[in-house]
Amino acid sequence: MRAAVAADRALDRVSARAFVREHIAPHADVWDRQGAVPEETLERIGEAGLWAPFLPADLGGRGLDMVALGEIHEEVGRGCSSVRSLLTVHTMLCWALNRWGSAHQLEQWAQDLAAGRVLGAFCLSEAGAGSDAAGIATTAVAHGGGWLLRGAKKWITGGQRADLFLVFARTEASIVALLVPRTTPGVRVTPIHDMLGTRASMLAEIAFDDVVLGPEALLGPSAFAAGMVLTGTLDLGRYSVAAGSVGIIQACLDASSAYAGERSVGGTLLRELPLIQAKLSDMVTDVRAARLLCEQAGRLKDAGDPATIMATWVAKYFASTAAARHATEAVQIHGANGCSPHYPVARYYRDAKVMEIIEGSNEIQRTTIAGEAFREGTS
Ligand SMILES: Cc1cc2nc3c(=O)[nH]c(=O)nc-3n(C[C@H](O)[C@H](O)[C@H](O)COP(=O)(O)OP(=O)(O)OC[C@H]3O[C@@H](n4cnc5c(N)ncnc54)[C@H](O)[C@@H]3O)c2cc1C
Repeated sequence: MRAAVAADRALDRVSARAFVREHIAPHADVWDRQGAVPEETLERIGEAGLWAPFLPADLGGRGLDMVALGEIHEEVGRGCSSVRSLLTVHTMLCWALNRWGSAHQLEQWAQDLAAGRVLGAFCLSEAGAGSDAAGIATTAVAHGGGWLLRGAKKWITGGQRADLFLVFARTEASIVALLVPRTTPGVRVTPIHDMLGTRASMLAEIAFDDVVLGPEALLGPSAFAAGMVLTGTLDLGRYSVAAGSVGIIQACLDASSAYAGERSVGGTLLRELPLIQAKLSDMVTDVRAARLLCEQAGRLKDAGDPATIMATWVAKYFASTAAARHATEAVQIHGANGCSPHYPVARYYRDAKVMEIIEGSNEIQRTTIAGEAFREGTS
């Protein structure tokens, strides 16, 4: 049984890799410059069943486990961090819906989300609140049996394109998680362009100008469940970003080893130079270590073990910082070519920096990991 699961998983990774090689990686630099992933590719991702393969079959997925999902997100991240970012936020919404959605919400959204006919986005950050999620100012006030939503979310990945927003808002007593269709009157989308990295991930600011929502918008059994929705969803997003960061390290290694094998200086191939070898050896070592940390976090998720939360923090911290470090070295190995638009390493460099900021910045990761160490011990 275990061997069969492992074989299926290997097949999922291989087919995701083939899909990325054909449909994503060759175009990623162009999309990066254009600032968008084309509609045709979003549809292809749906045809390949990659939007939400972890959903159960009756909701339109394939019941893939979290280890397999991480591997797919790694492969996508290896090809294009913008596409992986779109997958991440879509995954977060789908996961929350599957975990907390009512029968009505599941019936209304799950199949379309699984197929990518409806794309999801995750709306927590605001101009005045990022790391400090408790500081959000968007409000949801009880109104006619439902909610009146007022405020604005910023830096929303996929916001230019998404059809359904998972929005966190403050009530008098706590925080609620609300499902808000883009077409709801009062929802205003303003594109954000020219970010440093993940430039094709179609960021937007989403304003909610007195948006009237019915009671069915609430995700979770009660307003008090929103804390759990938020924790679980952020954990999954962090897992996906960790996996995507592994993909970036692998892509840096792929590009750098190829370049070092063809570029010579003073008659010597770069690959023969000890200082270049040292950089490549560190990439090889760290990509394996980061991959194992992600796999461990995924296994704990599949086992339903709460230790996955800390394992995911550690995986994301290690993978994102390693990705930023190795992307810097990948540009260094490529010299001036690495600074040009003709090699993908400049994109990896910009994308990797973003990984150190999103889903828990470096500083928040280190504080959280250290805090856990003091609470639980280090073993
Ligand atoms: C490309 C991109 C995509 C994004 N997509 C989304 C999305 O889809 N949905 C969404 O909701 N948000 C999204 N975000 C926002 C992202 O989650 C926030 O940028 C992140 O949480 C950090 O918040 P901030 O930018 O407000 O930085 P701040 O919270 O203002 O932090 C500024 C600096 O202070 C440090 N800092 C903060 N608190 C502490 C502390 N206690 N101790 C030490 N240092 C601290 C931070 O690490 C950081 O270095 C995205 C951001 C980017 C760049």
